[in-house]
Amino acid sequence: MTDSTRLSAHEVAAHFRTGDLSSRDATTAAIEAAERGNRALNAWLSIDRERALAEADAADARLRAAHASGAAAVGALHPLLGVPVALKDLVSIKGGQCTAGSRILEGYRAPYDAHVTERLRAVGAVIVGKTNMDEFAMGSSTEHSAFGPTANPWDLERVPGGSSGGSAAAVAAYHVPLAIGTDTGGSIRQPAALTGIVGMKPTYGRVSRYGIVAFASSLDQIGPFARDAQDAAALLHAVAGRDERDSTSAPVPVPDGLLHLTASDDEAAAGLRGKRLGLPKEYFVAGMEPGTEARVRAAVGALEAAGAIVEEVSLPHTDYGLAAYYIVAPAEASANLARYDGIRYGPAARDGDILANYLATRGAGFGDEVKRRIMLGTYALSAGYYDAFYVKAQKVRTLIKGDFDAVWAAGFDAIVAPTSPGVAFRFGAKMDDPVAMYLNDACTLPVNMAGLPGVSIPCGLADGLPVGLQFIGAPWTELGLLELARGYEALTEDAEWRALEPTDLALSLDPAVPTPVERTAVAGTRA
Ligand code: GLN
Repeated sequence: MTDSTRLSAHEVAAHFRTGDLSSRDATTAAIEAAERGNRALNAWLSIDRERALAEADAADARLRAAHASGAAAVGALHPLLGVPVALKDLVSIKGGQCTAGSRILEGYRAPYDAHVTERLRAVGAVIVGKTNMDEFAMGSSTEHSAFGPTANPWDLERVPGGSSGGSAAAVAAYHVPLAIGTDTGGSIRQPAALTGIVGMKPTYGRVSRYGIVAFASSLDQIGPFARDAQDAAALLHAVAGRDERDSTSAPVPVPDGLLHLTASDDEAAAGLRGKRLGLPKEYFVAGMEPGTEARVRAAVGALEAAGAIVEEVSLPHTDYGLAAYYIVAPAEASANLARYDGIRYGPAARDGDILANYLATRGAGFGDEVKRRIMLGTYALSAGYYDAFYVKAQKVRTLIKGDFDAVWAAGFDAIVAPTSPGVAFRFGAKMDDPVAMYLNDACTLPVNMAGLPGVSIPCGLADGLPVGLQFIGAPWTELGLLELARGYEALTEDAEWRALEPTDLALSLDPAVPTPVERTAVAGTRA
């Protein structure tokens, strides 16, 4: 039988329907792949075999019941039923760990399921485990995890991007076909780009944040990772929609089209004809790697050749996005992280008075990047600076949103752009220079600032490493963006790079290979 870990979620689902694969077998294969690959990749912070197999057996029971009642019942099964999925380790699972990549949450057990966990359970998806991430989702490389960095299956010496690097690596390395991440300034799209998979940040308000560890509440969005647009759409469909427990989740209907994005290649490619795409000149930023720019421009050329109408557009406030984001996000983070006081969560210092315990708990529990953000944010919100920094940044945010609004008002269907200015970089390359690290998100941050949906899809390789193409849309146009993504997939179905597997995938299964912690210790990048 074919190795089920190589199949997409919809292919796995098709095998379930013909009865030649069980969820237990698919789940066992996923767990084994994850366990085997984790030494070299450090993509997973926990794998829960027992729970996953129990969920798989429950899914198999539902599959058997459907088979017993006939073709209509089988046809009505949810496409994610029985399919293995990974969750970033900031999504609550009742009774399970939820570290958010931080020592300060080590040993903490979530008392309830997140909204997305409930939704995944409801459709019968199988949660295999929790994935590595930058501490509190602050970072672009997963090197800021307190539990060591994650490696990129395309090159074990390189980062997978971040902050959802564990989820991206687990999907790219064929452990699971699907994973959940969060994106505050690029943390789904950028790691998707750097590992050669699909990652979508939905419209702000599309997915309830109930039960997710908060970073910057006005920017955070939950979204899917997958190896193709159809799978990403089905996962988004499963978790999207209004939830009373998150007042920012919007009562906007979730399009049914997301559930089965099943156009044929010809239909999908034909759908590109006449689409108006804006190419923002400001997104080809100074310092962009030539190989990445060449791949993105070639992809845009292919879209044009397929009948899309591509016109250059200007988003004039792009340059201010980074500075404004690094006021707003740390300000909100400093408020959100005040709750880690040594009383309510995780490990705590207990031998001094209240203030001494508080300082000792936070001093030992938070890593350097988190402390940097708390200091930045507290400063920006302090009396006397609030108007100069925070209020000013919010005004800039309005201007950034206005830039995008003008593009939609001019009748464009979407914006097409690079996801990241370069390919996956080496461990340690940007750790001593926070601003260089922040610049990775120049093409993704503005999308969060404006609350818009964006998707990154693979568009080939530069220097042997994956490059991401980004589609950005008006609010609530996720279906349209994923159809564009599907169209591009159809155009490039036979491209040579599509058939390549991550270069270091085989090496990642070698039990003798050093762990990312060992690698980076040798490189001298970590204490
Ligand atoms: N890299 C950005 C940051 O460090 C975005 C992170 C994210 O999207 N969670 O804030």
